[in-house]
Amino acid sequence: MIKRIYLDHAAATYLDKRVRRAMNSFWEENFGNPSSLYKEGRKAKKALDQARAGIASLINARPDEIIFTGSGTESDNLAIFGIAKALGVPISKPKGHIITTKIEHHAILNAVENLEEEGFEATYLNVDKNGLVDPIDVKKALRPDTALVSVIYANNEIGTIQPIAEISEIIKEYRKNKMGIQEKTPFFHSDACQAAGYLEMDVEKLGVDLMTVNGSKIYGPKGIGFLYVRSGVKLKPIIYGGGQEKGLRSGTENLAAIVGLAEAFKIAQQERKKESARLIKLRDKLAQGILKTIPKTVLNGHPEKRLPNNVNVSILDIEGESTMLYLDARGIAVSTGSACTSRSLEPSHVISALGRPFEYGHSSLRLTLGRKTSKKEIDYVLKILPEVAGILRKISPFLLKAKK
Ligand SMILES: *Cc1c(COP(=O)(O)O)cnc(C)c1O
Repeated sequence: MIKRIYLDHAAATYLDKRVRRAMNSFWEENFGNPSSLYKEGRKAKKALDQARAGIASLINARPDEIIFTGSGTESDNLAIFGIAKALGVPISKPKGHIITTKIEHHAILNAVENLEEEGFEATYLNVDKNGLVDPIDVKKALRPDTALVSVIYANNEIGTIQPIAEISEIIKEYRKNKMGIQEKTPFFHSDACQAAGYLEMDVEKLGVDLMTVNGSKIYGPKGIGFLYVRSGVKLKPIIYGGGQEKGLRSGTENLAAIVGLAEAFKIAQQERKKESARLIKLRDKLAQGILKTIPKTVLNGHPEKRLPNNVNVSILDIEGESTMLYLDARGIAVSTGSACTSRSLEPSHVISALGRPFEYGHSSLRLTLGRKTSKKEIDYVLKILPEVAGILRKISPFLLKAKK
């Protein structure tokens, strides 16, 4: 087999041809600055407005509630730091309280950790063995000084989908009964980067006040994202300059990427139901095939409440990294799902949060399907992966140690 089989769509997606076409004229022809008042500028401004309005209507928001940013990471950071900064000069220490979960993307976790260094307090909610947040735990964690609750919509490693609307109801109820100067808080943010291609994105149905989406996970360009900010939510910028994006994100708008993001999001939302149904079949075939043919394997994440394209398994006794490299050599791209930034082979914080022994984190493998994934590819992976697991188990240090 010469063609590569790409099963890491949670890390990056190829650009949809229709998206590229939509972006085409913005490199050389329509290069104007949307802030310029002459014809070229007006033309650019029109395209910017259209992109904003298009996204707004798809999530049931108003155009002025969409802030374009440079990535999903930046949107998450703007939500976290923007809210924290808007609280103003602290009257008392600690400065405020933030609630998030143990299974957030690092764009949230590391930002919240930084706030802790600045004097904020943070609660990191536990999840159950399937990676689900219990809304009751949110209720218990809420405090009068809670500024923000941030819960990832669908997890990027294990695909578990959180009960966002239920959590929102609890926060709204708390807000309603709250007295005092900060009665509008806590606000509710959700990182929807992985959800945007597959799930309901209506901000009224979800009940979110802020929501992060990026281009790179929905067959759009990389290095572009937006943050939905409900009107009335006070936010301070993290980037200062010419005052673009209502002053919340200064810098000349990356118009080609913005137009691409709007097109990618439109296509993703239009096709999500049909594509989800197709992918769920392939996903379940892959997951069941792995669990059936490879002994001592477990599925990580919720069996049903999970993204249509996500399979995450722990193949015990072998390192996820080894499996990944062996598959790579056989033409298959997957990831370990562990945010392994160093050679120390830190196990995934997400798998660890499921309360399983640490070996589960070390042996986890994430396979995420996409628009070009075919049944034939899944069949091929189901042939190769058990072979690879067999080879690696023969030389597994875990098993060799056990034999001694
Ligand atoms: C990819 C991803 C991000 C980061 O997005 P970038 O555009 O790469 O900065 C944040 N959150 C989640 C859930 C993601 O999957």
